[in-house]
Amino acid sequence: MHIKAPVKILDVPVHPLTMAETVAALDECLTSDRKVFVVTANAEIIMMCQKDMEYKDIILRNAGLILPDGAGAVWAGRHLGYDIPERVTGFDLFNNLLKLSAKKGYKSYFFGGAPGVAEMAGNKATTLYPGVIISGFKNGFFDDEESGAIINEINSSGADILFAALGAPKQEKWLAAHLMELKPKILMGIGGSFDVFAGKMERAPKWMQDASLEWAFRLYKQPKRWVRMLALPEFVLKVLWKAK
Ligand code: UDP
Repeated sequence: MHIKAPVKILDVPVHPLTMAETVAALDECLTSDRKVFVVTANAEIIMMCQKDMEYKDIILRNAGLILPDGAGAVWAGRHLGYDIPERVTGFDLFNNLLKLSAKKGYKSYFFGGAPGVAEMAGNKATTLYPGVIISGFKNGFFDDEESGAIINEINSSGADILFAALGAPKQEKWLAAHLMELKPKILMGIGGSFDVFAGKMERAPKWMQDASLEWAFRLYKQPKRWVRMLALPEFVLKVLWKAK
């Protein structure tokens, strides 16, 4: 995979790729049978890396591709003087990989969400991308001892791509811990994307995304997230301080 060198946003190396470059790089991994652990680094994940050294270490040691997920990450990169062409969000990449899979016959496994949500998301995926193959489903509420059986199920399903929608940091920690055993070539955490597909959660309208207001929409829809979202102003202050 020939990709541009990463730039550092608060010590997290982020690859400044466009969505098209990302999809092409991942397609190449799939055709050449190379495994890649993809992290979509939004402001919240970058802030988690400042506070949870184990999480940061896991990402730095294992991720083959770390992408600028969201307006915050793009703003930070640009403010620090780097050329970040555009945001590559987990949700948009999930959609683009499904589209690619429908064309090329790659199989995806949907792992995560409350019971039944992955299956509902799978129905939506087959409606949006006719021909797409979902090789299996598993909800994201499980005990550690079940991980072995889950891995066997994923591997025996013949999946090329594993979408893990367990939320951060759980999804990255689980994927990194089982990187060697997992057979899919693309392993990627996609947070609440199944909830959006299943109609359980709404995504911000495009104009709000473009105006860097996705955070406000999430806060309005899920007011309980406010404590978690305090990471965002903290992120902005840290970047401003770093750029001084
Ligand atoms: N989730 C899960 N297992 C867990 C905890 C959460 O599958 O043990 C799912 C949850 O149902 C939701 C997603 O993970 O669908 C987390 O969504 P969120 O929007 O919080 O993602 P984040 O913002 O953390 O990426």
